[in-house]
Amino acid sequence: MLFLIISRNRISNEIEQQYNNQFHPIFPSLVTAHHQVKQQDRRVVILGSGWGGFKLMRELKKAKYHNVTMISPRNHFVFTPLLASTSVGTLEFRCITEPVRSDDSKKLSFYQAQCNDIDFENQRVHCTSWIGEKNGESFQLEYDDLIIAVGSYSNTFNIPGVKEHAYFLKDINDARRIRKRIIECFEEASRPGLDEKTKNDLLHFVVVGGGPTGIEFSAELYDFISKDAIRTYPRDLVSRVRMTLYDVAPQILGSFDSQLSDYAHKKFKRKGIHIKTKRFVDQVQPDHLVIRDEGRVPYGLLVWATGLMPSPLIETLAERITLDAQNQRMVTNGNLQLLQKDSSTLQNVYALGDCATIDNYDLPATAQVATQKASYLAKVLNNDQGNINKTPPQSFMFKNRGKMAYIGSSEALVDMSSVHELAKQSGHLAWYLWRSAYLGMTFSVRNKMLIPYHWFLTWCFGRDISRF
Ligand code: FAD
Repeated sequence: MLFLIISRNRISNEIEQQYNNQFHPIFPSLVTAHHQVKQQDRRVVILGSGWGGFKLMRELKKAKYHNVTMISPRNHFVFTPLLASTSVGTLEFRCITEPVRSDDSKKLSFYQAQCNDIDFENQRVHCTSWIGEKNGESFQLEYDDLIIAVGSYSNTFNIPGVKEHAYFLKDINDARRIRKRIIECFEEASRPGLDEKTKNDLLHFVVVGGGPTGIEFSAELYDFISKDAIRTYPRDLVSRVRMTLYDVAPQILGSFDSQLSDYAHKKFKRKGIHIKTKRFVDQVQPDHLVIRDEGRVPYGLLVWATGLMPSPLIETLAERITLDAQNQRMVTNGNLQLLQKDSSTLQNVYALGDCATIDNYDLPATAQVATQKASYLAKVLNNDQGNINKTPPQSFMFKNRGKMAYIGSSEALVDMSSVHELAKQSGHLAWYLWRSAYLGMTFSVRNKMLIPYHWFLTWCFGRDISRF
């Protein structure tokens, strides 16, 4: 065995010598081995630890790339489809996070930092360390291959007051803030001597956005109120609770099959959740929002779950790269290589996930698209023998595997009409499918155990209503 290793090393050293001396290679397969050594030394920098960046990092072959660095303001991945469940305590926060650093990623360098700018010419990223939501020291890092997967921000549409007063649901800290505020509303409303109107206003929960995130959050909140708040707070208080969902579109869950979105609409109505479509929010104040043609609407909690906008990094790069006119996402070619302002390709810079779109191939900003792009890119980079541009691989093709949404009371929607026109399901069976599919998609064995454990705890004992 030892003899084999020594002779293998000697052969590869000899081949490397030959290559360096510009001799014609004798064994093409061994030349490939040489390229692999080169490939190992390439400095791969991944920006972002979300669906795109994290998945790519996991799938890059560590034997082929020895110099992989991930830069992200958070040192973990968040499983966003179950984020709404954590915002009311159906699941605990740590059930849906995966640390970036793990036994499997020992070869990975990780910097908890935010990338502020990219110098494409000198192949350098400019970053600022990011600990405890504070900006720290600046540093630069050089790359040979750069993958940009920085996601997106919630879009406020420049409506006054949204940024300051609304609650978003993009990250663990957002879910934590929402959970705290819900309990706060109940505790404040139970204060003795409080007038009726203030009590009612505090217990008015408003969601803006009738897409999957807004619907799933409303569903989880309804479960919390109907199963746990009712058990733990005075009846007089819980009977005051109102939930209203606003959307500018004519119907909720517009991306779903119309039968399924109608089903969700009916179920919400039956639960007493007011759905108000074709409504424009004009402004948001700390305790009320102003709806066009409706006026002042007081609230205790306002969750803003509508639309995406580019991250500040993309805005900084806007002068140098192509952005799509509609959503201001970075535009790439079919191999996910970034297009510059003059439409030329940056050969070693790739972009994927919510922050990017493919030229003339509009895809939704979902985890499904981000992970498929990440797997595609990992495959390309893992197979690359030094230069993917000599023989470009097949372009990325999205396989639509359908969509799902939780609608409360152990019911869900599953819309797989993209796979088969009859593959649509709503109700309890869809809920089992929803839970199984997302449990199956979690990455670590730890979370595959923690999630059902917490589902079971919630089923047995209800959600924890402590506020801290
Ligand atoms: P993200 O996952 O958002 O990750 C971006 C990463 O970049 C983060 O780690 C961030 O910290 C980091 N970052 C940001 N700025 C910088 C910077 N300047 N420098 C370095 N790093 C930076 N999709 C589905 O397909 N199915 C679902 O059921 C579903 N449910 C969802 C539920 C919720 C509540 C939300 C919010 C989203 C949901 N999505 C779902 C959408 C899905 O989460 C996104 O499409 C997906 O996260 C996009 O992946 P990404 O890697 O582009 O971005």
